[in-house]
Amino acid sequence: MFVLLFGPPGSGKGTQAAALAERLGVPHVATGDIFRKHLREGTELGKLARSYMDRGQLVPDLVTCDLVGSRLGEADAAGGVLFDGFPRSVPQLYWLIGHLGATGRSLASVVNLQVADEVILGRITGRRTCTNCGATYHAVSAPPNADGTCARCGSAVVQRKDDTEAVVQDRLVAYANQTFPCLEQLVDRTPIHNIDGVGGIEQVKGRIFAALGL
Ligand code: AMP
Repeated sequence: MFVLLFGPPGSGKGTQAAALAERLGVPHVATGDIFRKHLREGTELGKLARSYMDRGQLVPDLVTCDLVGSRLGEADAAGGVLFDGFPRSVPQLYWLIGHLGATGRSLASVVNLQVADEVILGRITGRRTCTNCGATYHAVSAPPNADGTCARCGSAVVQRKDDTEAVVQDRLVAYANQTFPCLEQLVDRTPIHNIDGVGGIEQVKGRIFAALGL
């Protein structure tokens, strides 16, 4: 069961993905999280990715597909994956379709979270992220501990460099120009479930599960 979770930055993909992956019984593969892990560990890949991420641009397709190819080679990914933030360009999409197709596998469905740009800006610029475990908070609606630490692991909670307003605008442009066209390519291939991403976490989760018949 290979499922794609689509949606602009700040549409709630990361928040919804963990519960959905668990319910589907497949690993959650988030390319953004993998890049951030490399960044924290200071690997060559992390240094390369940072130069794109800090500007709100996509990491080159070859680098990203290579990374996903390695992840898909791990045993737990053989039967399915919930992709979050991948593919993000039409070349990445066709790479994935070809990669799965080579072993007789295919995409089962797409969950497309829809949120208006104005709502996204408020969500992302208020977003705060744990430097250690990646837990996310919101400066106003869901703050971390009073001393600025993570309620889950106690590490520092900060604003991601690419969550500032200027970078978010660039990420939205990248989404519209490079990522959204993937959906047009998928229309005749794979069932697409358009989900209203505005609402409480449980409410949106309920909509996703209902659409997938879970
Ligand atoms: P995310 O956490 O999914 O919002 O991703 C953060 C940043 O990581 C993006 O703005 C890109 O710079 C990079 N990134 C994540 N996934 C991809 C991908 N599939 N292709 C290219 N760049 C990506």
